[in-house]
Amino acid sequence: MPIYEYRCDKCGYEFEKRVSFSQSEILPECPACKSGETEKKISMFCAHGVTGGSGSSCSGCEGGSCASCGH
Ligand SMILES: [Zn+2]
Repeated sequence: MPIYEYRCDKCGYEFEKRVSFSQSEILPECPACKSGETEKKISMFCAHGVTGGSGSSCSGCEGGSCASCGH
């Protein structure tokens, strides 16, 4: 199962949660302040070209599959 990163819009707390694909669109509540106002961050998926970062690619990324490196 993929691990997603979330960030609380209310208090700024960032946390990770392992969720199944069927639950991937459900935003968990913040463990710090119990707010439901959380947003999912890009974590397990390739973020090349999204964040503007470069130089962080691995052999998996170059091959088109980024599931193993987290980039
Ligand atoms: Zn919070």
